[in-house]
Amino acid sequence: MVETLPAPDLSDANILRTVAGVRPCRRGGLRLEAERLGADAGGKLLIHNYGHGGCGVTIGLGTGDEVVRLVREHTGPGTPVAVLGAGAVGLMTALRLLEAGHPVRLIAEKPGTETVSVVAGAVWLPTGIDFGDTPERVAWFHRILRRSMNGLRALPERFGIEELPVYESAQTPISPEFFDNGTIETPTELDVLPVGSGHRPGRTYRTLFMHTPRLIQALLAELESKGAVFERRRIGRVEDIGGLEEPVAVNCLALGSRDLFGDSAMFPARGILVLMKPQKLGYIIHDGYKYMFPREDALVLGGCFLEHDERDTPDEAICAEILAHHRAFFGQGAGGDKAFA
Ligand SMILES: Cc1cc2nc3c(=O)[nH]c(=O)nc-3n(C[C@H](O)[C@H](O)[C@H](O)COP(=O)(O)OP(=O)(O)OC[C@H]3O[C@@H](n4cnc5c(N)ncnc54)[C@H](O)[C@@H]3O)c2cc1C
Repeated sequence: MVETLPAPDLSDANILRTVAGVRPCRRGGLRLEAERLGADAGGKLLIHNYGHGGCGVTIGLGTGDEVVRLVREHTGPGTPVAVLGAGAVGLMTALRLLEAGHPVRLIAEKPGTETVSVVAGAVWLPTGIDFGDTPERVAWFHRILRRSMNGLRALPERFGIEELPVYESAQTPISPEFFDNGTIETPTELDVLPVGSGHRPGRTYRTLFMHTPRLIQALLAELESKGAVFERRRIGRVEDIGGLEEPVAVNCLALGSRDLFGDSAMFPARGILVLMKPQKLGYIIHDGYKYMFPREDALVLGGCFLEHDERDTPDEAICAEILAHHRAFFGQGAGGDKAFA
């Protein structure tokens, strides 16, 4: 007898709003390395930390640890650091630097609460990123994944991290690389999923879920309590970095790095979500870029991964398709003719 878990109510009356965001993707994966800038930028030490694609919330703490390692390799203890960018990656990097004893100033055009990072779902899965094309690079990325998972698990409850079961139907393409790095258990095959209509076969595994609005707020409060200074400013030229008083800067500018450093490997990937009234379901449905997350502020219905599309606005037809996909999974029919204006 298969236990059936509660189904969401996906009726039009529960729709809150639609949102969109642009993932900072990079061919070849992360750029995480130190560079000595030219004389026109004061010869400053710059550590790049960008290209987190569809998983910046997942791996941000692990890449922050790598930044600390690079700062230690090139400078002395307590060296002040300017962190450029205040999305999940910049905030998590700043946290790790402060914990390691470096005073931090965060400089960003948009504060954490207005970045793509608050749009993110966010499930703990390394999606939308190249792991690397050599065994060494893949092993390095696996270490980042493990450190990130351990770091998130160690955060106090106020950061909004919890472990949830994920259910995937048997038709969902499996990504073995998500499971072969010792961070999340291999999925268990199920004859019948305990969710959805039609007694589908599928699989299940457990991973972390990050309640992103709470996580971003908690990170901001933590950074403030540890003495971080926040400055709202656009970095328009590489020379602006040379003018900063800190001897080291960390580039967490995401897509901003494409223009500032002419990195043609960077590309945007637009994502769109339908947010519904929060519903305490206690599980995740995952089907590639079609997923359902029970976030505390909204039931999040995703989504899509539209490469080279930089519009950060939702799209009516895609929202209707997202809703129809999830309603079909739960046998809830058309459910109305909501227009997403
Ligand atoms: C719909 C959607 C769903 C997602 N779901 C998940 C998920 O389930 N799990 C997950 O791990 N990830 C998910 N992601 C991906 C995640 O959101 C990103 O990987 C992450 O937000 C990237 O963080 P970031 O800090 O690098 O970039 P951003 O959050 O974009 O922050 C960049 C920062 O740099 C600043 N900046 C840029 N250029 C300049 C400049 N020239 N001068 C000054 N400041 C500048 C910006 O103002 C901002 O502060 C999702 C993304 C989307 C769109």
